[in-house]
Amino acid sequence: MKCEMARDNVILAYYGELPDELASTLEQHLMTCEECRAELSALEGIEPQLATLPVAEPTPNLLAQSRMRLDDALDAIPPHGFFTRLRANFFLWVGHLRSAPALATLLIGVGFIGGNFLNRYEVAKQPQPQPASTSSVPAQSVVASVTGIDRTPDSEMVQVHYNRIVPETIEGSLDSKEIRDLLMKATTSPTDGIRANSVQLLASECKAGHECAARDDGKGVRGALLVSLRYDKDPGVRLKALEGLESYIGQDRRVRDAVLESLAHDPDAQVRMAAVSLLTPVQHDSSVRQVLRTVSTQDENPYIRTVSYNTLQGSDSIQ
Ligand SMILES: [Zn+2]
Repeated sequence: MKCEMARDNVILAYYGELPDELASTLEQHLMTCEECRAELSALEGIEPQLATLPVAEPTPNLLAQSRMRLDDALDAIPPHGFFTRLRANFFLWVGHLRSAPALATLLIGVGFIGGNFLNRYEVAKQPQPQPASTSSVPAQSVVASVTGIDRTPDSEMVQVHYNRIVPETIEGSLDSKEIRDLLMKATTSPTDGIRANSVQLLASECKAGHECAARDDGKGVRGALLVSLRYDKDPGVRLKALEGLESYIGQDRRVRDAVLESLAHDPDAQVRMAAVSLLTPVQHDSSVRQVLRTVSTQDENPYIRTVSYNTLQGSDSIQ
């Protein structure tokens, strides 16, 4: 063993990281080489001094991480490349020893092998000019909410924790649950065009008899259309919702009630016209007749009054 390698190994041995197969060779070398023995005792002399130096205490996490990285790195070294890698790492360590003896020795002591990580640790500990702010957030995302604020004592630095909204796109069949759920969300979008599009697509699904079953909780596609019919501010959207609900008027009391409500109260004449034309299949229902009677005398639109009256007559003539 040459002196250069022996001195590298001395440090490893000192901290218990020297593989057994190298230990005996090192021992033999030390018996014959006074210079290397001097190196060893110099190393032993460093430690009491280190103990008196103020050193940032690595956290238990850092120590555990260092230990794991050492094990990983040793595992990753191919058998024939072991000594080469060991030596290469050693020169890194020796470089750090010169620039930051206390810290580097301490970290070697806990089995640290990654020069890169040590570098980052040192950089993080060094006082340095800070940028105004740093952010790892993609440019497209939108801040949804601030969840916490930490101020570093006696400094200008503040840590702000927040959630963000990242735009995403999904493509799929109208029959897929993800797409339907998104379309139902879109029916309450503040953007008129998005609401109109989503209600139209959901209405066409209902007309085709797909995934439009009534649910007790009022959710689902049919529930979304009922909400749009009752509350959407755009008459075009309310019309589309009516179209989607048309085929359920005879079997779903909630649909019938919502259509009656539209006929009686919708401010838009086109919506009221569409509503009255939907009611023929349920014209015998007493609540329907009650509304038709009121509308046939009170609606401001003569056409709607006439159609309501005729529908009412139709129901009377059958009875
Ligand atoms: Zn020597």
